[in-house]
Amino acid sequence: MDNTALFKIGYGLYVLTAREGDKDNGCIVNAVAQVADNPVRIMLSVNKANLTHDMILRTGRFNLNMLTEEAPFKVFQHFGFQSGRNVNKFENCEVEMRGDNGLLYLPKYINAYIGCELRHAVDLKSHTLFIAEMTEGKAFSDIPSMTYAYYHANVKPKPAAPKGKWVCKICGYVYEGDEVPDDFICPICKHGKADFEKVQ
Ligand code: FE
Repeated sequence: MDNTALFKIGYGLYVLTAREGDKDNGCIVNAVAQVADNPVRIMLSVNKANLTHDMILRTGRFNLNMLTEEAPFKVFQHFGFQSGRNVNKFENCEVEMRGDNGLLYLPKYINAYIGCELRHAVDLKSHTLFIAEMTEGKAFSDIPSMTYAYYHANVKPKPAAPKGKWVCKICGYVYEGDEVPDDFICPICKHGKADFEKVQ
């Protein structure tokens, strides 16, 4: 079975927000779809490790925030790389925007949000599949929604390009960098750039 076939499934990227008591929280989700239209039903899969997952199971409500292509990497770090169990993700949120359901939606980097009430929760072991009914929603702009493919191509930082290695043909000293500088002098044998050759 070639699991890389799974990489070909298209996804979006969203911030899922919930509120329990006076605690607001949110996490990143990618597996989301509208699956019925009368009434409008949304399904999404959420990893059980997320606190937002537990909050939705207990409260039966969530907002789905549609990230745009303008969302910077820090949004994914903020909502995806730390847990609401350890930090208050909305502590430094300057503008508090709430739907009619009282749940937060993001003031920036989204082109729409929809508010939902949970109807079914299907246990999928690592995740729970939530099937919910849309109860409210607002669209803010026509900026394209963030897709998983766009995130990987344009948002996620690329690993630093591997640097080159040059070896001094006289003494074996190895220079690592983008290119041997024209005025470089080998620190061991004092020969110049002309005596270095690229090894990788
Ligand atoms: Fe040398």
